[in-house]
Amino acid sequence: MAEDFVTLTIGKQKNIALIAHDNMKPKLIAWCEENKEILKKHFLCGTGTTARMISEKTGLPVRGYNSGPLGGDQQIGAKIVEGRVDFIIFFSDPLTAQPHDPDVKALLRIAQVYDIPMATNRATADFLISSVYMEREYDHVVQNFKKSVEDRAQTL
Ligand code: PGA
Repeated sequence: MAEDFVTLTIGKQKNIALIAHDNMKPKLIAWCEENKEILKKHFLCGTGTTARMISEKTGLPVRGYNSGPLGGDQQIGAKIVEGRVDFIIFFSDPLTAQPHDPDVKALLRIAQVYDIPMATNRATADFLISSVYMEREYDHVVQNFKKSVEDRAQTL
């Protein structure tokens, strides 16, 4: 019988997604510049405009997906599901309505489901980047989704 939960490992080298809403982009770029030496050691990706601007302004290599309003947040959500993104820094704007608010909510939700460390403001980002786990592997327990499909297919 398969277990209900599985242990997954966030590697020493993390797959970090970087996202910032427009008003927050300068703050995220400044944060990346300040933490460049740490960020260099990991794999970086992000929504299109954020990724491009961070690369241009800091020289860090950041793989860009589509722009957020055009599905970039959803692409990052899909990467979480596939186990290819395991850490998120998302400087979201709490004071401006976003056309892609449902996508933002979906990303927050899927990050919770997969127990992904996620900062949505600078203070949390500072705490995360200072964590001892930045230099080591981290094991976490998540729902066994394979088993969940088996069970549901049997019982529904
Ligand atoms: P952007 O998308 O990096 O393409 O601006 C970010 C967002 O608004 O989610």
